[in-house]
Amino acid sequence: MKLTFWGAARQVTGSMFLLETEDQYRILIDCGADMDKKAALNGNSPEDDESPKSAAGFFPFEASSINVVLLTHAHIDHSGNLPNLYREGYEGQILCTDPTYSLTNLLLQDAASLNHRRLNEMGKSKKQKVRKKMASLQKDLFLEKQVRESMDNVVPIQYNRKFRLGDSVDVTFVPAGHLLGAAHIVINVYENGEKKSICFSGDIGRKNYPLLGDPEPIPQVDYLICESTYGNRLHLNTETPEAMLADVIQRTCIDIPGRLIIPSFSVGRTQALLYTLNRLYTEQGFPPIKVFSDSPLALESTKVYQKNLRLLNKEAKDYQEENASLFDFVNFEYLESSKASREVSNYNQPCIIISSSGMVQGGRVEQHVAANISNPYCTILIIGYCAEGTLGWRLLNGQPTISIKDKEEPVLAKVERTDVFSGHGDRDDLVRFVKHQSPEKLKKVFLVHGEFTSMSAFQQTLADEGYSNVEIPTKGQTYEL
Ligand SMILES: [Zn+2]
Repeated sequence: MKLTFWGAARQVTGSMFLLETEDQYRILIDCGADMDKKAALNGNSPEDDESPKSAAGFFPFEASSINVVLLTHAHIDHSGNLPNLYREGYEGQILCTDPTYSLTNLLLQDAASLNHRRLNEMGKSKKQKVRKKMASLQKDLFLEKQVRESMDNVVPIQYNRKFRLGDSVDVTFVPAGHLLGAAHIVINVYENGEKKSICFSGDIGRKNYPLLGDPEPIPQVDYLICESTYGNRLHLNTETPEAMLADVIQRTCIDIPGRLIIPSFSVGRTQALLYTLNRLYTEQGFPPIKVFSDSPLALESTKVYQKNLRLLNKEAKDYQEENASLFDFVNFEYLESSKASREVSNYNQPCIIISSSGMVQGGRVEQHVAANISNPYCTILIIGYCAEGTLGWRLLNGQPTISIKDKEEPVLAKVERTDVFSGHGDRDDLVRFVKHQSPEKLKKVFLVHGEFTSMSAFQQTLADEGYSNVEIPTKGQTYEL
């Protein structure tokens, strides 16, 4: 069989791998958006993608030649190009877990409506340059129709059940932690009288993450494609999410009557936050400071978590049994309309506002940050990765003034950060994942989904653990396995 790395090769996003068997069966594993700095800021503008393209334009292969797509999890850097794959002629199915289907549907619909709004805005412009850009974007930005087309072709797969694809291939999805529905995918290929097995790690979660089970070990394989986002780092904050939040809330909302703004990704991160806050108030009798969740996408994602209770960890299931809800508590309120979102500025008691986007780039959180950036009683708690150039990144850099909503404002609010809510395992978690494999039996490890420095440090770490055959593929590189 043949494996080509079409994305997440020496970069953190754009996961996409093509596995071809000897009898010409072509499996695409993940079909993610490449969100390099500029693309992230411009809303996934694929014009910056330098990979070779097919005749049709978007992919470096003919979309119609793919037989099946396997999706590790819903995050857009793994799923964000699925609608484009259909637009370019793919007619097959997408295999993923049921929650991955639900969350991917929400994320892609959200991206499609953003694309729609963007094109509409450009359409109103009379400037020739904008009209020209719009014409080029129209070719690249997918809309609701393409999202529906892709989601209509999803086949939900259960965890830990072997699923046959024709005579010579079977696949198994193994729980990976990280995000509801996320999976490591193990593929067995039977050719020339022998079985070859290969595992795509997807993103690897961490132990004891709120709501989610720990990543499960995978069986012995011949080849391992392993993410390496945190290949050279350990998580800095070792306290529990409850302890961290209790400390921040005490300092920012109780000791002084301030407000705490938490920019947060709507899918996954916000649910972990709400569940942790719920437990703080219910179990630890924390003062009932008002909590606002300001993201329509978060509201819909929370319903998916609630619906898939059976897939959550034991602690969450027990909590649900003893309490009415994982995510709803007396001092909690969803802000559904944009009017309600704006009006929260007038709420003059201490409060916590959780809103997207996590990088403070676009989304309703920008409004909250703009309204409070010069308020010394406000704290902005960054809980996730902020790409270079984003507002979150500028806040973390400690700039004395900041340009927001077309105004230069002094930064008087406090800015803090924590990684206790990061969904990625750190270096030790990654090593633990690989060490389930015998170094004698594992033929090769390929490192993907990381910065090159992180990958080469992790390559050395694995060498120290006895894994000598570790490759760092480049984009477009093909291996015969
Ligand atoms: Zn992910």
